[in-house]
Amino acid sequence: MPGFELFGDLERKEVNDVLENGVLMRYGFDGMRNGHWKAKELESELQNTFQSKHVQLVSSGTAAVSVALASAGVGAGDEVIMPTFTFVASFEAIMMLGAIPILVDIDNTLGLNPEAVEQAITTKTKAVMVVQMCGSMANMDALQKVCTNNNLLLVEDACQAIGGTYNGKPLGSIGDLGCFSFDFVKTITCGEGGAVITNNKEYYTNADHYSDHGHDHVGNDRGAETHPFLGYNFRISELHAAVGLAQVKRLPEFLAIQKKNFNILRAALSDIPEVTFRTVPEGGVESCAFLNFFLPDLEITRKVIQGLKKGKVDACWNYYDNSWHYIREWNHLKDLKSLYPISSEVKKGLEYLKTKDFSKSDHYIARNISCLIKLSWTEDEVKSRASKMREIIKTALKS
Ligand SMILES: *Cc1c(COP(=O)(O)O)cnc(C)c1O
Repeated sequence: MPGFELFGDLERKEVNDVLENGVLMRYGFDGMRNGHWKAKELESELQNTFQSKHVQLVSSGTAAVSVALASAGVGAGDEVIMPTFTFVASFEAIMMLGAIPILVDIDNTLGLNPEAVEQAITTKTKAVMVVQMCGSMANMDALQKVCTNNNLLLVEDACQAIGGTYNGKPLGSIGDLGCFSFDFVKTITCGEGGAVITNNKEYYTNADHYSDHGHDHVGNDRGAETHPFLGYNFRISELHAAVGLAQVKRLPEFLAIQKKNFNILRAALSDIPEVTFRTVPEGGVESCAFLNFFLPDLEITRKVIQGLKKGKVDACWNYYDNSWHYIREWNHLKDLKSLYPISSEVKKGLEYLKTKDFSKSDHYIARNISCLIKLSWTEDEVKSRASKMREIIKTALKS
């Protein structure tokens, strides 16, 4: 996945354009910038990549999720349904707005279980945030139906699934708003950065203003702009956007490499009867950023993880005991360890976390191994990794 593996001349050239005129900011300074508008250019490239009418770049993927929710009017006391398996950014982005994250189970797609979503809906529910984890997707048709039937917003976090598609549409472009991250380890990187995409003009205008202090961006005298509503600063810089502009042009190349490496690894494991792959919903095509598979139980999975470590097969994880990606170890959330007071509404809204049963999610996450697909591997490296993984899994199954 990480685009930084192939950082090179193209990235340097784009960054140098910015360094040469010295305008590091994306807005204003029209006369000084020699026609270089890297953030604007990247936004228009991303409109094509994601087949979306509007793109707003922001400072991170986490900011993208917060800005997306804020732009659609989600805020204090609103409930946002999200999966138990994701990155901590999901609940951070929700709580920053004073909204309440409602965690629900995943299914064999490793994404939101549509039935669990339906059961979690209350009168306070405003949005469903689907997170397309590890290069693939949840059952989007079913989730869209639940959202339409209950008049809920569907926000799609596709930070880990750039390049995947569902019924021919890019992941991220299916919900009412989509969110991407271009942090250092994502498929395309800006160093730090993110994007909100939408076909809704009003949400886009809101995102554009909100991410830049509420400035209305009317005319070309920045100092004279007015503020139709309160905003914040989630801007991306020209330097970051310049890196992303080089990387997005290389996305087809990155995706082709990912797919090739993914297929070699998948084929090597596919005739081990105890190995099952994550379910990809009908109509879905993975981005191939990760290969995900299930083993029979937690004990075998732990043995395989140990074997992989010993065999120096890196970048494979089981998330059961992981504090970045799975509910079980999110003790700072469960214990509400915050630097500053949290509203009583959110405190009360999160009490369910102390008692809610997530054994349905455990059932999948305990048995799952997720392997990052790198871009810099040679074909020999992938093949030798594949045969090592195969042997390690077979040994663990026999013992
Ligand atoms: C990386 C990531 C984010 C956050 O992105 P940052 O740019 O690091 O803030 C959000 N959601 C998911 C699923 C991610 O993988």
